[in-house]
Amino acid sequence: MSHKDLNGRFEPILAESGGETFYPGPSRSHLAAYPPKERWDNWTELDSQAWPRRKERHYSLVPTTCFNCESACGLLAYIDKVTGEVQKFEGNPEHPGSRGRNCAKGPATLNQIHDPDRILYPLKRAGERGKGKWEQTTWNAALDDIASRIRKAIVEDRRNEIMYHVGRPGEDGFTERILAAWGVDGHNSHTNICSSGSREGYQLWMGLDRPSPDHANAKVILLISAHLESGHYFNPHAQRVIDGKANGAKLIVFDTRLSHTATHADYWVAPYPGSEAAMLLAIANYLIQNNLYNRDFVRRWWNWEEYLAIEGPEIKTTFENFERVLQATYEEFTFEFAAQESGVDARVIEEIAKLVATAGTRFSSHNWRSVSSGVSGGWSVARALFMLNALLGAVATEGGVFPNAWNKFVPKPIYTPPHPKMWNETTWPREYPLSMNEMSFLLPHLLKDGRGKLDVYFTRVYNPVWTNPDGFSWIEMLTDPKLVGCYVALTPTWNETAYFADYILPMGHGSERHDIHSYETHDAQWLGFRQPVKKADRQRSGEEINDTREVNPGEVWEENEFWLELTWRIDPDGSLGIRQYVESKKKPGTRLGVDEYYEWIFDNSVPGLPEKAAAEDLTPLEFMRRYGAFEIKQKVGAIYEERVRSEELEDVREDRFGRVFTRAAKPASSNIVPIPSPDGDDDGRRLVGVNIDGDIKRGFPTPSGKLEFYSRTLADWGWHEYSIPGYIKSHVHPDNLEDDQTILISTFRLPVQIHTRSANAKWLDEIAHTNPLWIHTSHAAKLEVRTGDLLRVETEIGHYVVRAWVTEGILPGIVACSHHMGRWKLSEQGQRQLMATVKLEHEGTEWGLKRDKGAEPYESSDPDTLRIWWSDVGVHQNMTFPVHPDPISGMHCWHQAVRVTRARPGDTVGDVFVNTQKSREVYRKWLALTRPADKHSPDGTRRPYWMLRPLKPAREFYSLPELPELEHV
Ligand code: SF4
Repeated sequence: MSHKDLNGRFEPILAESGGETFYPGPSRSHLAAYPPKERWDNWTELDSQAWPRRKERHYSLVPTTCFNCESACGLLAYIDKVTGEVQKFEGNPEHPGSRGRNCAKGPATLNQIHDPDRILYPLKRAGERGKGKWEQTTWNAALDDIASRIRKAIVEDRRNEIMYHVGRPGEDGFTERILAAWGVDGHNSHTNICSSGSREGYQLWMGLDRPSPDHANAKVILLISAHLESGHYFNPHAQRVIDGKANGAKLIVFDTRLSHTATHADYWVAPYPGSEAAMLLAIANYLIQNNLYNRDFVRRWWNWEEYLAIEGPEIKTTFENFERVLQATYEEFTFEFAAQESGVDARVIEEIAKLVATAGTRFSSHNWRSVSSGVSGGWSVARALFMLNALLGAVATEGGVFPNAWNKFVPKPIYTPPHPKMWNETTWPREYPLSMNEMSFLLPHLLKDGRGKLDVYFTRVYNPVWTNPDGFSWIEMLTDPKLVGCYVALTPTWNETAYFADYILPMGHGSERHDIHSYETHDAQWLGFRQPVKKADRQRSGEEINDTREVNPGEVWEENEFWLELTWRIDPDGSLGIRQYVESKKKPGTRLGVDEYYEWIFDNSVPGLPEKAAAEDLTPLEFMRRYGAFEIKQKVGAIYEERVRSEELEDVREDRFGRVFTRAAKPASSNIVPIPSPDGDDDGRRLVGVNIDGDIKRGFPTPSGKLEFYSRTLADWGWHEYSIPGYIKSHVHPDNLEDDQTILISTFRLPVQIHTRSANAKWLDEIAHTNPLWIHTSHAAKLEVRTGDLLRVETEIGHYVVRAWVTEGILPGIVACSHHMGRWKLSEQGQRQLMATVKLEHEGTEWGLKRDKGAEPYESSDPDTLRIWWSDVGVHQNMTFPVHPDPISGMHCWHQAVRVTRARPGDTVGDVFVNTQKSREVYRKWLALTRPADKHSPDGTRRPYWMLRPLKPAREFYSLPELPELEHV
């Protein structure tokens, strides 16, 4: 029903649908529906602030993606046609991963772009480093200075003094390729304080480090993570977990704390932290002893032949013999044993095991962060969890778990610079040859060891002083000019680390920058496009915009244009061989622009996109600017079962474990993750597949081509005792605690805040702004504390003071504190909605933070800042944690053995105290647990070549050179 008024506009009237009357909105769509994409050029809504008048506002709807977590959900910016400003963000219904839905942090992007405290201009340090004196500088001056330092370091062969340290990449490897163009092995990521534990466990099995569960089609879902509130690909996975539940799936959640996810579970169990692998292996044992596993899948796809041949040469290599060994090996993992380790009733574990057994190939599971990032040996939890999938054959099945790389799409870029010809010991030290990622959080200790120094150090979307453990050691490093020559903080907003920078360069939020990405949200492949929405809007109207600074507030830029320009200035005449990687193909001799960069990718590397765009009379770039995402494929399926094509089989040879080697070259265009060939064969062939019952199949990207129940890598590199999935007593196992110690869980966060990126979102800050210590009622009664009382939490290197939150929602005797609060600033300069102003106290190796004042109302361009009603912004606990690098995965083991007492006289909320001398001692203690490559490498290399590594150096630089003995080793 509609009619037009005298001006020819549609008049809003009441309409009827299915017997219901509703107000369809001035754009004639049901208010509960998404704006249809055909009408994104001119969308009309009523101005809510004009109510009760019906005043229409007209919008261009421009898609981008959220940058507030790794999920990169689709957003739709509502750009007011009169003001040209973004009025709000909602979900993009065209995005295949998020399907129009967002968590609270997505729409709150609006707060971030309008944050009155954001950094709008490049700043240069004016006084001593860390003293808070800044002067505005120009991009030109900053670029010239930084470029000349980098050029000098490259020319003088000090490439190992250039480092880029990223928190949230949110992109397609753009910056890795920039570093490769510079010939620098300087990529450093946050992964080892985030997810390396899980990644290691998955990589050992599948050769790929992340799972892609098909929750929506599962019968049973087992989560050791909090996917309904955080987790990895939180919102896209959360909605599919709920789809699965709506379809009748049973949800099992292991979490010591009553998370939001646990509240939706059919079975919530709260195990003793670090005991999860014992429970999972008890479930595995139940499947094994009762022949409830998928025998044919195990026979075809586990590398049991290799296991028997190497570990039991006296046993005849038959599957039946392997089954007997399997039964004998896991029989010790009884429900009673699991109960004793976990504290969970044996009958409950048995009930869960029986439920898991009913799932068949529709068993989806996920372990992310949580305990695998909490305890030493945490990687064995992900390994034990995936063993259940591997036993059930629920691998790349409908309702099962896929290797991540099969459910994402990585397009070929315009340039692929060669692998750097160097190996950086300050990111990949010899002690951690099997770590999943760079040993980023050890950087201050590695530099203090004398292993190197930094001439130019970049951080991007990263705040190590606050996010990492042992933040005072980071301050010591950053304030020592002998260790760090020039520190450049690329950040959209103030953060604790930026206070110690030489340059603070303002970067864009999710609606102010370009990136492309693709993530394993479900069994499909898609590509998402983040873009500066005001640029895209003005380009739609025919304007030419060449630089995001033309549309962003102040002089806010985007990283990609920054990196292109910086690279151009490092090698202005091309004599270093660097400039060629940032040169326009269309106009040789000029710098590549972001439009050409993405145009090339969308034209040449995304199957189906050019055709789809042409059908709408658009170029591929115009299509992506208009819709923000493209679905390449649905239902990718079980790639490992694909037959290798005959053209890839040339002069093949098969080894005794069925690995097939070929002389045929790799196909030029393939999105299949190849099986790594650490050795190839002696005759120059590459590994192409595995022989399964007479068929040559694609297999998995592991050294064996199969799922690796047996890790020959672990066995060969000095960790033979862990060569098959097992249970490791962690650093916080009761055997390793003193009587008055308890465990602090610090690996969780609330759904509405994330690390350091969301403190400038007023809506989120109002909802969540503090992090009290979760303490069980019985525990609190012993200490005689009530909610709101002050507690002192003592770690190995110091203590902090926090308020108590007495709850039944945690295992008695364990305490927990969310790690996304406790932001601080050293002066009024900074983010004022969620940062306390503190005094930094320092004498020798003793450091302290004392709160001067919490958040308070203030006058700004946003009247809401006068309405701030909260003052407590939580406590910065991470500073009091020493580094705990797992000797295998390299993951920082976050859980702490602590003493919790009532606060002492003089203690005030937010106090933090640390002695960094003790930090050094703990670092050395954990370093002594490693089995370094120079003592344990089986082949004289630093790291197994097949293992994943961002920005791989050239193959020859994997060889271990003669290295000087370091004093502490
Ligand atoms: S889950 Fe939330 S924060 Fe993460 S990308 Fe999606 S909307 Fe943004």
